Formats: sequence, structure tokens, C-alpha cells
Amino acid sequence: MKIKNLVFRVFLLLFLLLSSTCGFAQPKIVRVLICKSNASLRLSSQGPVTIKAGNKILKREQRLEKIVLKRKGDSIKLGRGRYKTLDFISKGFPISVNNKAYRGNIKISVLHKQLFAVNYVDIEGYLKSVVPSEMPSSWPMEALKAQAVVARTYALYRRAGPNKEYDLCSGTNSQMYKGVCSERSSSNMAVYLTEKMCLYDNRKLVPTYFHSTCGGQTINADSVWRRALDSIEGVDCKFCKDSPHYKWKRSIGRRKLGKILSKKGYKIGKIKKIKIGKDKLYRIFIEDKYGKSQVLDANKFRILVGTEVVRSSNFRVKVGWFRVKFKGNGWGHCVGLCQWGARGMALKGHSYKQILQHYYPNLVMRRLF
Ligand SMILES: [Zn+2]
Repeated sequence: MKIKNLVFRVFLLLFLLLSSTCGFAQPKIVRVLICKSNASLRLSSQGPVTIKAGNKILKREQRLEKIVLKRKGDSIKLGRGRYKTLDFISKGFPISVNNKAYRGNIKISVLHKQLFAVNYVDIEGYLKSVVPSEMPSSWPMEALKAQAVVARTYALYRRAGPNKEYDLCSGTNSQMYKGVCSERSSSNMAVYLTEKMCLYDNRKLVPTYFHSTCGGQTINADSVWRRALDSIEGVDCKFCKDSPHYKWKRSIGRRKLGKILSKKGYKIGKIKKIKIGKDKLYRIFIEDKYGKSQVLDANKFRILVGTEVVRSSNFRVKVGWFRVKFKGNGWGHCVGLCQWGARGMALKGHSYKQILQHYYPNLVMRRLF
């Protein structure tokens, strides 16, 4: 009996050691910067919360009544104490920061003379807010499932090392994350039905970019960002024609455009001509009336001029007497999953696996390692 017990214990120890070194059986936590403040943050919870400073437990509350944390120089003031960091550990109830509730735990620290609130949240809980914040929860289930896989892969790819304070922001720079209030039953189901599924290039996670509408063709990732990311290639898309952003027309004053570019360091006089490179590199050649010229990446140009004016990297342009006129297709950087295309494919009966295969033909879906 004793030997059996010993053997069992050795096996258990081996299992625990293996699971901790291989990473399975561990929840995948992402760290999301949810807000910053110069002066103070308000926290509360309807459930039990433990407050820690480093390894020291300061308080165990059955219910966290609204507390206000204030910044004093490089430290956080709570009651009479001053702390470098404070951890708010939940037992399953959401914690509210400035009246927005979040799953998981919250870490408060002072960085660059500001209070930073970082949400430590399990990846699946994080996605329950991201999926309906990035795609309408009323869209077909297969499109929502494709979005869940793409958002999961992107977030886990972005996990930074321990030297960084957080992995992701909560806005469009990373993925939209609005907390518990944004969760919807259909998108929760999409997250659940694709649990732990990610897209890989061999055994590596990939930054699976996505965008609203490609307007007929998605773009190679390395054409947009000039970095080696050949696993995300442009593909034809016949499925996003219902999008209100499929085609667009915009214009901007000729003088105004010149001023914007000069302000951003692209010295250029009165614009005479704008040409678009014929290769698939999406470059813009701008020439002024004195013969000076500038070359810009279309995506950079789009962001400099304003994404409300130049809505995608896929456009044609004409320099008129007073105004520069753009006609284009799609909205966004047009790399990776076309969300309106995913909706169109789902409405035609395609599964989320087929959708992902279409937009990421070089990637393979499998469960998290
Ligand atoms: Zn499309």
C-alpha cells in the first residue's frame, strides 16, 4: 500500500513538473492595459478581493467597497500606506476600474508619472469581450468563430516577456477590449466552441491581422509593414460586396495635403502629381511643382493623411486644381481576415475553418501547445 502510494506520488510530481515546463494545464493569461490616470483610479467589486503589495497581503475584503487610489510621486497611496504596486486578486467576481468591470485580476503600478491599471485575464475570458467589440455579435456564428480564433492567435502572439508591464492595450492599437459589459451570448458561444484553437506557421504563432473590408483583395502583410511576414499573403475575396466600405470616394484640399505631409517631415511643395507604384508594394510617389519628390508606403500615407480620408491602401488618386481626389476599395490595412468577407462566406454556408483557410492559406489551425 505504502509503495503504491509512493509510486502515485512520484507520478504526480512528474506530471506537475512536466505540465509546468511544457506549459499545458496552465491558464494562458494576457496582460491588458485598461486605463491610465495622472491622479487617481476608483476600484470596486461585488465579490471577495485580496489586496497585495508584492508578496504581502494587505487586506482580504468580502466585498470591495469603492476605493480611490491616488498617485503620490512614484507611489500609490492606499489608506496610510504608500506602495510601488498593488494587486487586486479576485475570486471569480469581476473587479471594476473607473466603473468598468473586468474578469481576472488587476495590477496597479506607477509608470511615467501615471497610474497604470493592467488586467491579468485568462485568454478565453479576454476574448469574450474582444470578439463582440471587434465584430457585431449578431453576425453569423461561423464568422464569429473565425474572429475568435484570429483574435486568440493575435493576442497570444503579442504576449511580451516579463520585462514589459503589459502585453496589449484595450483599443484599436491592439484589439478592442471593453470588459464584461460588452459580452454577448452568441460571441461567448463562438469563443467556447473554438476554445484554445490558434493559427500557426509551423509551430509558431503569427500576428493574425484582420480588418473590416478588403474591397476585393487582401494585401500581403510584408507589403504593408515592410517586415518579413510571408506567411500572411494577399488573397482574392468575392465575399465582402455587402460591406458599406466596399467602395469609397473621398477628397482633400491640395494645399492641405501638402501641409500635412510637410508637417510630418515629408518636405514637399505644391503637389503636382501622385502616382501609385505598379508593383504589389503599395508605394506612393508624390512630386511637387519644383520637381522634388517623396516616396511613401500606402499604409503610412493612409495613416498620415487620416483614415477617414484615405480609407484603405487600395486606391486610385487624381490631383485636381484645388483638390486631390481618391477612389478606393475597402477599409483598413486590408491584411489577413476580411471581416465582411468572413460574414459573406458564413452566409453562403462556409464553416469557420474554411473561412480561416481562405484568408490564411499558409497557416494551420490547431489547439494551443
Ligand atoms: Zn473582402
